[in-house]
Amino acid sequence: MADTIWERLAPPAAAVDHALRDTRDACFWIDDVAAPRFDALDADHACDLAVVGGGFTGLWTAIRATQRNPGRKVLLLEGRRLGWAASGRNGGFCASSLTHGEENGRSRWPHEYDALERMGEENLDGIERTVRDFDMSVDWERTGELALAIEDHQVAWLEEMTEGRFLDRAQVQAEVASPTYLAGRWLDDNALLHPARMVAELARVATDLGVEIVEDTPVTGLDSGSSGPVILETPRGRVRADRVALGTNVFPALVRRYRPFTVPVYDYVIMTEPLTDAQLAEIGWHHRQGLADLANHFHYYRLSADNRILFGGYDAVYRFGKRVRADYEHRPQTHRALVSHLLTTFPQLEGIRITHRWAGAIDTCTRFCAFYGLAHRGRVAHAAGFTGLGVGASRFAGDVLLDLLAGEDTERTRLEMVRRKPVPFPPEPLAVAGIQTTRWALDRADHAHGSRNLWLRTLDRFGLGFDS
Ligand SMILES: Cc1cc2nc3c(=O)[nH]c(=O)nc-3n(C[C@H](O)[C@H](O)[C@H](O)COP(=O)(O)OP(=O)(O)OC[C@H]3O[C@@H](n4cnc5c(N)ncnc54)[C@H](O)[C@@H]3O)c2cc1C
Repeated sequence: MADTIWERLAPPAAAVDHALRDTRDACFWIDDVAAPRFDALDADHACDLAVVGGGFTGLWTAIRATQRNPGRKVLLLEGRRLGWAASGRNGGFCASSLTHGEENGRSRWPHEYDALERMGEENLDGIERTVRDFDMSVDWERTGELALAIEDHQVAWLEEMTEGRFLDRAQVQAEVASPTYLAGRWLDDNALLHPARMVAELARVATDLGVEIVEDTPVTGLDSGSSGPVILETPRGRVRADRVALGTNVFPALVRRYRPFTVPVYDYVIMTEPLTDAQLAEIGWHHRQGLADLANHFHYYRLSADNRILFGGYDAVYRFGKRVRADYEHRPQTHRALVSHLLTTFPQLEGIRITHRWAGAIDTCTRFCAFYGLAHRGRVAHAAGFTGLGVGASRFAGDVLLDLLAGEDTERTRLEMVRRKPVPFPPEPLAVAGIQTTRWALDRADHAHGSRNLWLRTLDRFGLGFDS
C-alpha cells in the first residue's frame, strides 16, 4: 500500500496539539447567530398543510407552499430548535447539483440527466433570487468550487470531467497555493452561504409569508382514516392537516416503510480562527471558491465571511444500530486528523488555532441523492437521503413534495429520479458489516492509486455505494 499525501507530508504532532489547545466543542455557525425562538404547540390546531422538520427541507417546503398558494394555512413543527441538526451545522456549500455530482447523475439517469442539470441550475438561481428579493443576510457568495487532484491518479479523473474548466498545476496554484495540489477543475454552479443564518432568514421569510412555526414540538405519531384530515400527535396538542410534508431527514421516518432507505453517517468539521491578511496573502484564494479534493475519503473546505477556514470531511463514520446520538459527535481522532490534514494542505498556517470542532449526522442513501415517497393515500409526502448535499437540493425537494401532495403531473414528478426509490440498507448486523467493508475498501483504494477492489467494483456494477 502506498502512503497518501496526508501520511507523506504530515505535520509534527506538536503543531496539531497547539492548534487544538482551546477548541470549543460547538458548531461555529450556530454560535454565531442569535436565532429567533418560537413557542411550542400547546393546543389542538388545524391547517391546510403541516410540515414536519425545521431544517432546510421543511422551511423551503413551507415557503414554497405559501408562494404557490398565498391563502394556504401552513404550520411547521420542529421537534427541537430550527436548524439545530444538519441544516445549521453543514459546510454551507450550496450546489446546483440535484444528483450528488455529474458522474452519479449521468450514470444513474442518463436519459434525463440534462433536464436534471437544468432544473438544478434553475433551483440555484431560485435560491439566489429568494436571498436577493427578501434581502436575506446569509453571507451568500456565488464563488463556484474547485475540485482538486492531490494524488497523481486524480489528475486523469479531472481531465475526464466535462463540467467546468480544467486548471493545470500552475493555474491551480495561482488560485490557491498548497503543496498538495496537482491540478483542479473550476465548477461554476456553486455558491457558499452561512448555514445557521440561512435557517434564521428562511424562518423570517416563512413567517412574513404567513407560515406558523412551532419549536420543541416533536411529532410522535401520524394517523389517517380513508378520507378526511391526517392527525399528527404531539405532546401537548393534536394537529389536523389536509396534507403533510415530512422533512425529517436522518431522524426516524414517521412513515415506517421509509426507514430502511437511509442510515446516519457522522461527518466531522473544524473551524479556524480568522486568518490574518498576511496568512491569506500567502494562500491567495482571491476568488474564495469552495474547495474539495477527489479522494474517496475527501475533504471540503471554504472561507467564512470573516476569513476563517472551515475544513471538514475525510472520515464518514457509521455505527451499529442506525442511531442518531449526541455522543457520536465526539471523535477526537477524527478532529485531530482534520487538523493534521489542514496543516498539510496549508503549511503557511502553522501556529493557527482551531476555535470550534463539531460533527453532524448525514442521511446517507445508496444512490447519494434525495428520494421521495407518498403515503396515507397521497396525503403525506416524504423526502430524505440527500447524502451530504442538501443545502441547495432541499429547495427542489420542497417543490417535489408540494407537486406530489397536489397530485400534479409536472416535469419534476415525471422524473425517474423522483418516482424510483434507492436500494434499502439491510438490517443489522448486515448493514454495519457492509458499510465498514465499503469504508475499508475505499480507504485501500485511496492508498492504491485509486484502484478499486472486487468489492467496490461489484457495488459499482449494481449502482450501490456509500458516501457522506
Ligand atoms: C457536518 C455536515 C456537513 C454538511 N455539509 C454540506 C454542504 O456543505 N453542502 C450541502 O449541500 N450539504 C451538506 N450537508 C448536508 C445538509 O446539511 C443536509 O442535506 C440538509 O441540511 C438537510 O436538511 P433537512 O431539512 O432535510 O434536514 P435537517 O436539517 O436534519 O432537519 C430535519 C429536522 O427535522 C426535525 N425532526 C425530525 N423528526 C421530527 C419529528 N418527528 N417531529 C418534529 N421534528 C422532527 C429535526 O429535529 C430536524 O431539525 C452537511 C451535513 C452535515 C451533517
